[in-house]
Amino acid sequence: MIIKINNLYFSYQGGKQNNQFKLTVDDWGVNKGAFFSLLGPNGSGKSTLLKLILRFIKPARGNIFINGVDIQDYKRKDLAKTIAYVPQKISSAFPYSVYETVMMGRTPYMNFMGFENEEDRRIVKHALEIFEIDHIKHKGINELSGGELQRVMIARAVAQNASIILLDEPNAHLDIEHQVSIYGILNELRIQKQITILTVTHDLNLAGVYSDYISFMVNGRILISGNKKDVLNEKNIKDIFKVNAEVIKYTDDILNVLVKPDKLN
Ligand code: ADP
Ligand code: MG
Repeated sequence: MIIKINNLYFSYQGGKQNNQFKLTVDDWGVNKGAFFSLLGPNGSGKSTLLKLILRFIKPARGNIFINGVDIQDYKRKDLAKTIAYVPQKISSAFPYSVYETVMMGRTPYMNFMGFENEEDRRIVKHALEIFEIDHIKHKGINELSGGELQRVMIARAVAQNASIILLDEPNAHLDIEHQVSIYGILNELRIQKQITILTVTHDLNLAGVYSDYISFMVNGRILISGNKKDVLNEKNIKDIFKVNAEVIKYTDDILNVLVKPDKLN
């Protein structure tokens, strides 16, 4: 397991004690090289779990291991070389250019002076090309469409050359062509470089096509986890999301989810 969690407990400080959000994960992990989807309703704690894995927030109890080492024992730079992150909310207060933003992915590799070298430039150029943002590299990131900005953030994460990429609703702003192409690129990287991908998404179809493992999260707990073909089914979708769906199984590897409106029942 490249990510392993034991007896984790977290709650946000402040607020009323009785309606405070609590997250509890007893025993959960992600295999190296997996394409793992984390699904669940709004407010179930998916983003919080990613932030715990990134060490942005600290659990009250329990441990998170990356490559067998407790994240609390990692040096900042080493953690940044290991895990890249595409956030759900992208704040672009400062008008960095697209090029500068993708180059930020190289920060953990730069010396204390922060100078980029030839290899950094080559990696950034490649990331700009594969995500089709080369033509806008001089634009400010607050002059982009939602989908362009999303691709910039994914390119930055890929330029970071980490062995794990965490993505929080990466397809939220993408048109259908880019949803498919970006998931395809991530999947290629996973296969070629044994990268592990953990993505939060509401898109059951993309999860059904690209991921190999799925966990469902509800009220701060991971309720169901397993192989996609075993857990992405009508009963679980009904239990978790309260909607009727039909799951079409093309192969064990390609599932299509058709959510049905109440009218049809
Ligand atoms: P999800 O990503 O599954 O939609 P989140 O992890 O963002 O859910 O949030 C889980 C719960 O924690 C929500 O009820 C949310 O309101 C609460 N929450 C998120 N961030 C904070 C915060 N910084 N302080 C207090 N509560 C928070
Ligand atoms: Mg979220």
